[in-house]
Amino acid sequence: MKIETKAINQSELAPTFTAFSLAGFQLLYVGGCVRNAILGYGQTDVDLATDATPAQMREIAKALNVRIIPTGEAFGTLTFQIAAQDFEITSFRSDVRTDGRRAEVLFGSSIQEDAARRDFTLNALYADVNGTVIDPLGGLADLREYRIRFIGNAEERIKEDYLRILRFFRFWAWYGNAQSGIDPEGLSACASLCLGLDIVSKERIGAELLKLLAAPDPAPAMAAMEASGVLQIILPGACARNLALLVDLEGDLKPDAFRRLALVGGENLKTNLRLGNTALKRVSKLRKTAQECDRLIEHGYHLGEEDGWTSWLVRNAFLERSPGACDRATLARAAVSQFPIQASDLLEWFSNKVLGEALEDGLRIWLASDMKLEKDALISQIRENKIL
Ligand code: ATP
Ligand code: MG
Repeated sequence: MKIETKAINQSELAPTFTAFSLAGFQLLYVGGCVRNAILGYGQTDVDLATDATPAQMREIAKALNVRIIPTGEAFGTLTFQIAAQDFEITSFRSDVRTDGRRAEVLFGSSIQEDAARRDFTLNALYADVNGTVIDPLGGLADLREYRIRFIGNAEERIKEDYLRILRFFRFWAWYGNAQSGIDPEGLSACASLCLGLDIVSKERIGAELLKLLAAPDPAPAMAAMEASGVLQIILPGACARNLALLVDLEGDLKPDAFRRLALVGGENLKTNLRLGNTALKRVSKLRKTAQECDRLIEHGYHLGEEDGWTSWLVRNAFLERSPGACDRATLARAAVSQFPIQASDLLEWFSNKVLGEALEDGLRIWLASDMKLEKDALISQIRENKIL
């Protein structure tokens, strides 16, 4: 089968393809870029595979005058820096020994062996420079049916690398089909081996979960992950129950993993997912506001238009209701409203700690008036409250 080469073909790679071919080696696109080109999805990073060993690749790079980074050389991967882009080229390899995460590998294997050590059939697709697909394991048929199937025996493949449990759910979230369901053999293998996720680093777990949550509709995959016990292992306290409703309420908003995470929650996101400080702050604020604040305008005032709408949607999903027809416009107005007084307006009557309290009172009164009270009326009310 020939695929739409435009979607995958990188013209800046042309001299590299020619050099590999002149040296007598195959160079093929592999994995996500082939999968996504066939599906017509946006392109991911471009990975390539070759029957050249890393040493032979180095020689080709030298002749081409291309800079290489030996990041994964022990595993057969060299990064070729071409036209300011990084392309990972990996030797066809087979795994000799695995320990649940890392593998000891053998280079110079056949494409068949290289395909067999990959995770899922739809990720074992290759394409040559012309876009002709090479499908050693029947991945194309699975891709067309939106099936995510482990290559070989699911349990054995998971025991080689427990991260594959999370990749299984992630790829199903992105490329699966809720109607035809998740692969039962894969699901039961993930359920029975989920304790093995213990040896996977929290960074990898966090990165996988965020990629899953960024899928257009991650709700069926999260539900399957919850039902299989995997979600509780990676993120105790998380609950995906109302995620489908949130996705529904999002309408045509861009998928946002953190919006979904604010709904799903879970204990100690910093440790369990190694979330960075900015993301952590945003998710906590979204979740707290969604859980505690029932006044639409406060979402807008405290979080701004975009995040205010996000926390309002999350709140609606929690409460299993839909926002009102005018909510979006009201929130947008609240987001740009200015609290009409500042500390200097109250100095005549209050000072120090009392001044701070008076300002807080004022903000509460102003928000309760739907942001309608004007400066003088507001100052009078603050003064009355304080005297009482
Ligand atoms: P994306 O880049 O969109 O996340 P991808 O399929 O390209 O998806 P990568 O993590 O970039 O995923 O890996 C590239 C390819 O390497 C995969 O398509 C798969 O064939 C193989 N691969 C990656 N990780 C594993 C793994 N843990 N076990 C087996 N094969 C893997
Ligand atoms: Mg990739």
